[in-house]
Amino acid sequence: MSPSDQDLGLYVHIPFCRRRCHFCAFYLEIAQPAPMARFHSALIQEIALHRRQESLDGRTLQSIYFGGGTPTSLPADQLAEILTLIRSTWPTSVTAEVTVEAHPSSVTPSDLTILADAGFNRISFGAESMADKDFAAIGRVGRVHDTATAVQAARRAGFGNINLDLMYGLPGQSVQDWVHTLESLMSLAPSHISCYALTIEEGTRLAQDIRQNLALPPDDMLQIDMESAAERFLTDAGFARYEISNYAKPDYACRHNLLYWTGGQYLGLGPSAQSYLHGVRFGNMADLESYTACLNDHRLPMTDRTRLSTSERQRDALIFGLRLLRGVPRQAITAAERDHQIDVLIAKGLLDADHDRIRLTSLGRRYADTVAEQLF
Ligand code: SF4
Repeated sequence: MSPSDQDLGLYVHIPFCRRRCHFCAFYLEIAQPAPMARFHSALIQEIALHRRQESLDGRTLQSIYFGGGTPTSLPADQLAEILTLIRSTWPTSVTAEVTVEAHPSSVTPSDLTILADAGFNRISFGAESMADKDFAAIGRVGRVHDTATAVQAARRAGFGNINLDLMYGLPGQSVQDWVHTLESLMSLAPSHISCYALTIEEGTRLAQDIRQNLALPPDDMLQIDMESAAERFLTDAGFARYEISNYAKPDYACRHNLLYWTGGQYLGLGPSAQSYLHGVRFGNMADLESYTACLNDHRLPMTDRTRLSTSERQRDALIFGLRLLRGVPRQAITAAERDHQIDVLIAKGLLDADHDRIRLTSLGRRYADTVAEQLF
């Protein structure tokens, strides 16, 4: 897929969770009725302002993605109402991918029915692991068997496209534990699996525990072994790895995320959401109070607005495009000495190239950003 005027997505950030996981650095608030009600009104106002300003020029949405936080912290009928409002505000393709992220331990069968009936056709569960001891180590709410219950309920509600988000390199997790998690999930027949290596973000509880010697930092070599084990296991199970962290059954690659990796355009709604439209990147305030105050004052809650130069667009296309296993066209590298630099990176085992395209090797995927910087 190449970027074109047809590639347009909408992202809605729902910034609430019941509790913050120990590794999580996303902007979010603890789910409470009063701030959730303020957010809901402000989001409706944000949609109305974008409609008035014709931010999307009447173009058709190809994907809609409700992420967070935990979108299903909001009542399912509110999520359904917001989706209906979006679809009546902007033309939406009949084949659009419409995703909602959900927490397996809090979403109910009746929520799932409401969401499927409203038009969500893809659901992404934050499963993380299938070992209870891992949940305790990362402060995650719930029990592992909630994932199976939620996936089965989602399927009964009508969801045929189900993603599971997983993490590896968790404190005390072995390669065998990780493979056991993958094995345990196969009977649930997900169509998509995302595997993220645990990273330690400043300001998180886990970073603090590591500083105080209460937890061990992730072991890079172990994470590399786990990444290889996941690739072997999931390939054998019929998944194709199409991006550094993402695996899909045929025809189930996430269309919304492909927008980000192929230079497509998207409008982000909600606190901290990012947008890229008409060559301009902008972000919303990452603070619920400022976000709602701005919208109550009939102003869009933007914090910054940058028109990307041609060179910045090319750089982004390279950094994001190289994340895809199919790589990028050779012409994406514009530096005069590119052939020399490509040869150097091939010699180091970081890149593969043929006449038309370059792509990261499995070693190169571990240093994707560094390789992209060296090519630019
Ligand atoms: S459920 Fe997800 S968004 Fe919420 S705190 Fe945990 S990792 Fe962060």
